[in-house]
Amino acid sequence: MTTTPACIPEFIAAVGAALDARAEEVTALDSAIGDGDHLINLQRGLAALAQRNADYAEMDWPSAWRAIGMTVMSAVGGASGSLYATLFLAMAKQACPQFDASYLGTAFSQGVEAMKLRGKSDVGEKTLLDVLVPVAQALREHRGPAEITKIAEAAAESTRDMLPGKGRASFLGERARGHVDAGARTAQLMISAIIQVTHTPTA
Ligand code: ADP
Ligand code: MG
Repeated sequence: MTTTPACIPEFIAAVGAALDARAEEVTALDSAIGDGDHLINLQRGLAALAQRNADYAEMDWPSAWRAIGMTVMSAVGGASGSLYATLFLAMAKQACPQFDASYLGTAFSQGVEAMKLRGKSDVGEKTLLDVLVPVAQALREHRGPAEITKIAEAAAESTRDMLPGKGRASFLGERARGHVDAGARTAQLMISAIIQVTHTPTA
């Protein structure tokens, strides 16, 4: 079965439900070591993306990634908004005619590389990149859905003991230790939600 951009409204709904289910935790994390707005930033982006639900079925994947990137760029404030916009706009530049492992591994990896440049950051700095980088690698290695879900969970958890190198948390230094990074947690939740949608048999 080929996944087309007509599935995007379903992805948006699944990601929204996954974030809502962990809303308290995410807000508590971003309040502990950030400014508490991370969940609201993502929810604002999802609402803006859902406004375009009628359009996605008409698009191919590169134009869908581009539309998503532009929407996120204009709707979402904060560091996470410009980073996720960068991810999708960079993915739009890659040939990704189908939503399958061989294309996604390359396109997603290019997107994550662009995020590193944009954020002037890399793994080990207690950010969403600590989840996205290993997930990109797992996609390139054609790991299965259950394995990628586990990799993302472990990666988010790994930020708990890290010292923050980037973002607002970096001002806290040692005091940020002991908290999972909010952006790493939401990256994990969003990835797991999309994996669940794309790998749950419908009949
Ligand atoms: P802001 O920090 O501007 O309020 P958000 O609260 O929406 O934005 O997002 C915060 C998350 O963004 C952090 O938890 C972290 O994962 C991520 N982040 C912040 N700065 C960077 C950066 N330079 N590189 C990568 N990720 C970052
Ligand atoms: Mg914030």
